[in-house]
Amino acid sequence: LRAEEASAAGRWAIAIHGGAGDPSKWNEAEQAARCAGLKAALEIGKQRLASGNSSLDAVEAVIRALEDDPLFNAGRGSVRTSADRAELDASIMDGKTLSCGAVAGVATIKNPISLARLVMTETKHVLLVADGAEQFATEQNVPRVDPAYFFSRRAGDGEREDREDGEDRDAAPSNPRYLGTVGCVALDVHGNLAAGTSTGGTDKKLPGRVGDSPIVGAGTYAANDTCAVSGTGIGEEYIRHAIAYHIAAQMRYAGRTLEQAVDQAMRQTLQPNVGGLIAVSSSGQLVLQHNTNGMSCGAADSSGRFEVHLQLADRVLSTSGYDSQTTIERDRHVVLDLLEKQVAAWNEGNIDRFMEPYWKSDELTFSSGGQITRGYSATSERYKTRYPNREAMGRLSLSDFEFLWLAPGAMQVLGVWKLEREEPVEGRFTLVLRKFPDGWKIVHDHTSARAN
Ligand code: ASP
Repeated sequence: LRAEEASAAGRWAIAIHGGAGDPSKWNEAEQAARCAGLKAALEIGKQRLASGNSSLDAVEAVIRALEDDPLFNAGRGSVRTSADRAELDASIMDGKTLSCGAVAGVATIKNPISLARLVMTETKHVLLVADGAEQFATEQNVPRVDPAYFFSRRAGDGEREDREDGEDRDAAPSNPRYLGTVGCVALDVHGNLAAGTSTGGTDKKLPGRVGDSPIVGAGTYAANDTCAVSGTGIGEEYIRHAIAYHIAAQMRYAGRTLEQAVDQAMRQTLQPNVGGLIAVSSSGQLVLQHNTNGMSCGAADSSGRFEVHLQLADRVLSTSGYDSQTTIERDRHVVLDLLEKQVAAWNEGNIDRFMEPYWKSDELTFSSGGQITRGYSATSERYKTRYPNREAMGRLSLSDFEFLWLAPGAMQVLGVWKLEREEPVEGRFTLVLRKFPDGWKIVHDHTSARAN
């Protein structure tokens, strides 16, 4: 029931980009086609999130659609290196667990974002490149394409139109016409953030050049305690300034809002005309900003917002997000869910899983019966000695919860515990939880029998 309640109360938000290109470079029909591509992709993300799917699923599905659209510089529409071939980069990150996966310099993968996700879920690594990534793709059976697949911009076109233009051929790699990387950031109804980015890189890049898009912290970043970010622009600049992480770090350590953090990065950290970025905070605020003349982008959320742009008024779009009450409600559900799973683990006799929500640190404290145990392993050992078998463990239940927000990212939960067994026991508990980049954890646990 709680999970249902959480998703009913849950709000979602999503932003996409299709590169920091200058719309004046496209004629009307090209502009309309780009907007249609953005809308179609945003619609996919909206559907997924509104029906309760995870932000990771939404991000992957949206980016796959943009990779398949030849108008964007990712997947099918990728630009070429100076050696005249496509080398694609992509990454994806899960804000809940900080898991991430990326591929770089792949040349036959239809949807690099999905391969990046497989690197995340099927290997213990974060980034696979070139031949190794191709070999992994073979093992994973992901759809492959002939390199010629990347050479047609529009369905039916044999050659890429813009390539026949001599002026563009000599253009600098930073020519905004070629900035068509795609990205997506999302917050789902479960309160989880995710980000992903996919690109063909910069036009006429040197063979082997890797940009920011597959570099976690540069072109992509997501952590549930702050925000999810995807960038587009001159990748070298984004790597130099660790832009995506820089946004999250400003929120985490300097207490800035998402809007302030993005604005700082776009106006002060980066030089003018370098690129743009899209971001969503854990409270559902969307911020999209570019310091180029344009950025193909879109935003939608559960309040009914749904819009796409090739250029933002004043180069920024910022939504209000959900009030702190909504975030608190959601955190309450997340913590209740965590405690419920803990109780289930206990009742299955699984102490290791019961210990999962505790802070895995020497600084974890546990107090009971006038004694303090310090550290995750010591606490875990103590439980195992004290409750050697199912009979000793009995059947645990928690009730009478009271929540108190101590500070942003810090919570106290009071309640009653009961152990049904031969000699039943019950008492009160006090938990102190902190919200870490990968979620809420119990940092202190006090239990007492009712008598004391
Ligand atoms: N950031 C990408 C790269 O440097 C290019 C782009 O966003 O257009 O690889």
